[in-house]
Amino acid sequence: MHSHVDAHCHVDLLNDWQNAVNRLESREQFTLAVTTTPKAWRVEQEFARHCRYVRIGVGLHPQVLHERMAELPFLERAIGESRFVGEIGLDGSPMYRAGFPDQVKALRRVFSVCAEVKWRVLSLHSVRAVGPLLDLLEETNAHEGNVVIFHWFTGSATELARALSMGAMISVNADMLRTAKGRSHALVAGPERTLTESDAPFTRMHPLVDGIPSVEPAIRALADCWGVSVLVAANGVEQLARQYWQPNYRLYR
Ligand SMILES: [Zn+2]
Repeated sequence: MHSHVDAHCHVDLLNDWQNAVNRLESREQFTLAVTTTPKAWRVEQEFARHCRYVRIGVGLHPQVLHERMAELPFLERAIGESRFVGEIGLDGSPMYRAGFPDQVKALRRVFSVCAEVKWRVLSLHSVRAVGPLLDLLEETNAHEGNVVIFHWFTGSATELARALSMGAMISVNADMLRTAKGRSHALVAGPERTLTESDAPFTRMHPLVDGIPSVEPAIRALADCWGVSVLVAANGVEQLARQYWQPNYRLYR
């Protein structure tokens, strides 16, 4: 049996998330369960302490940041204790535009902490804001010594090239791979830089199977996109994830 990889999902938004964590762990599904607030992370991290496959990311989602700016110092401290960080990022959609300057300020601080502590795996939200996000990475050097993963990348080809040149990876879901742009991004990023995700419960193509998100649709779509068998695609993604999820993983650059 081989392990599937879900590099971005919201396990805490599922019914009975504790049970989901246990099931994902027993299935050996490499999972980055992102959180939207550092308070949620604290609770979930405690629960998933024993896990080797399910990792809880400490996050502060850009869409809730405006009402939770006060939790930023807590997030900064928590990054010191958590190898996995997310969901963090920027959202430049019209609905969140007013808070954009605060998002940038917060992310600059978060990236600065990551740049200092290093050895972190970051799952990034970058809706209509890939350029400013890459600028912040460059400014803080957070991409040096950390693994930076753009989840559901929707930027341009030029922005993707820039992200890849900075060592970034992408995580793709089946909804993303339905679009020509999404498939082109996965082709360009290639097996060296692509992980699968479900982004459950926000995707249409990733149903829950026995109460946990299935990443099968992403693997199948990715295999199709790369022109390889499902097994080859799944193995490649698994090997990539294994390096980062394993407790003794180190970054050599
Ligand atoms: Zn998300």
